[in-house]
Amino acid sequence: MSTNSSDVELSIVVPLYNEELNIDYLFERLISALKPLNLKYEMICVNDGSRDKTLECLIEHHRHNPDIKVINLSRNFGKEVALTAGIDFATGRAVVPIDADLQDPPEVIEELVAKWREGYDVVYATRRSRQGESWLKRFTANAFYRVIDKISRVPIPRDTGDFRLLDRRVVDALKQLPERTRFMKGLFAWVGYKQASILFDRPSRHKGSTTFNYWRLWNFALDGIVSFSFLPLKVWSYIGIFISLTSFIYASFLVIRTLVAGIDLPGYASIMAALLFLGGVQLISLGIIGEYLGRVYEEVKGRPLYLVRDSYGFNSSEGVTKSVSNPVEYKPDRSI
Ligand code: UDP
Ligand code: MG
Repeated sequence: MSTNSSDVELSIVVPLYNEELNIDYLFERLISALKPLNLKYEMICVNDGSRDKTLECLIEHHRHNPDIKVINLSRNFGKEVALTAGIDFATGRAVVPIDADLQDPPEVIEELVAKWREGYDVVYATRRSRQGESWLKRFTANAFYRVIDKISRVPIPRDTGDFRLLDRRVVDALKQLPERTRFMKGLFAWVGYKQASILFDRPSRHKGSTTFNYWRLWNFALDGIVSFSFLPLKVWSYIGIFISLTSFIYASFLVIRTLVAGIDLPGYASIMAALLFLGGVQLISLGIIGEYLGRVYEEVKGRPLYLVRDSYGFNSSEGVTKSVSNPVEYKPDRSI
């Protein structure tokens, strides 16, 4: 059920947020890395509400090179959503998402494509080493991958970002996933297909600094855990059962002691017993409500994932695909 109607073989998707200092070097590296591959490619650059000159730089590049196409989102939606937008607009037989800061070396694309040509549908690039990251970031990232590996219902490969190659059939499958919480690593894993991995050394950022501070990373981790596991919801039911049981035992003990030894503080035993028991019961029922609410909340909002303000380099006959689940407001290309 391919929606592909162009003859582009490879779509590179780049999300950009305040990356004006990296753009020139990014295209230089990308173009020289793609040249020897000898395939028709496009570069889909998604400007994710940058506040610097990123958009102007991109448009300038597009003017000189029509392979560079630009989508300008209406505001900053975050990397995951920017990536989704780029993937929605990609028309290639394969799609490679890549960071704009050159932490995903464009030279690795050659290896990804080689594996793809061997017949794999997903080729992911796993970090053999990470440079320019503090021990705290490495430690927390490690802990995150360990936790998610334990509790997620689909296996999410370790030390693997969004840098990977996706065959068209995987891209079409991804587009059918309607969820609004786009934890891309999880979604990529969920769709399955024939997967292979290669290793690369992750350099530090070329210019600028990361926008993923610890608070953002924490929220990102929560997204991942909540959308791929019900454990955080379920655990409260068990805690509730545990509290109820212990308080029941404690209450029995208090009652028996009161019967045997008489009353030392009137009303104390019954109040404690009722308080602890009810507290436990409330947690159980909250846990059960949470089970439902968590599932409903995900589905119910129904907002579009992103809004496109304008785009450059797409013409309507070129097969710009919009999935039913994320109706984007798409304005026709502005002539520049
Ligand atoms: N990015 C984005 N929207 C955001 C934050 C980041 O599109 O709100 C892009 C950013 O321009 C870069 C990629 O996502 O191309 C990775 O971001 P960053 O280097 O800050 O993350 P890190 O490498 O530290 O995980
Ligand atoms: Mg980076």
